[in-house]
Amino acid sequence: MTYDFANILFAGPCNRACPWCIGKSLPDTLNEENLSLFPPRGIDALVEAVNGHRIPEVVLTGTVTDPQLYRHEGALLGLLRERLHPGARISLHTNGALALRRMDLFNRYDRACISFPSFEPATYRAMMGPGGVPDLEGILRAARIPVKVSCVLDDPNLPEVDAFLARCARIGVGRVVLRRLFGDRRPFRVLEGRRPARTFRGNPVYEVEGMEVTVWDFDAATCRSVNLFPDGTLGRDYLLTETGAALSR
Ligand code: SF4
Repeated sequence: MTYDFANILFAGPCNRACPWCIGKSLPDTLNEENLSLFPPRGIDALVEAVNGHRIPEVVLTGTVTDPQLYRHEGALLGLLRERLHPGARISLHTNGALALRRMDLFNRYDRACISFPSFEPATYRAMMGPGGVPDLEGILRAARIPVKVSCVLDDPNLPEVDAFLARCARIGVGRVVLRRLFGDRRPFRVLEGRRPARTFRGNPVYEVEGMEVTVWDFDAATCRSVNLFPDGTLGRDYLLTETGAALSR
């Protein structure tokens, strides 16, 4: 069996409140808080799976919280560097709210993806709840690792897509992912009239103002992952909610 990546998932209070947060639809038992726990529950099984299957990437992310709220981020990075096979990349998937304050840790990953739906404060609030817009330009300036921007699309920010991409290009973003909301079956009209340069796992990739822009539809994506849930459960479904559904049946 081959896997594309493995997730280490955190749960606890978040510093944002996105109405579309996928992790909130998981059973509560999976979302057992682990922000203060070192090492995370089930880490030995995760390390064994990553090394046994030579999984190329391990992602620190959250079901219902931001992984940079994890109190032992540095210690966990040290443990993973020590115990994972030498080809394993370690990535951070974050909302970016703490990135500047924790830049020393941020730069210890191999790459990062920031969930960032808008530069406009009102739109940002509508999509991610209270909390200021992270200084994406400042993060890019301070980062010494590749940073990708992940932009969930919904009614509040759909009219801004072109302006959003133009500003991303201006501040030096190299890669953007425009993501359909999980379960959203409405027609997906972005970058219409453009021809994709290629596809990646079934999703079209465009070149826009010197950036690589992927339009990502979770339902169309063909990925395999191992997921270490906050309660220590090791799941093997790409769509987190499917593991939740399987466990709740
Ligand atoms: S930042 Fe992520 S974990 Fe936090 S509420 Fe939003 S989607 Fe959920």
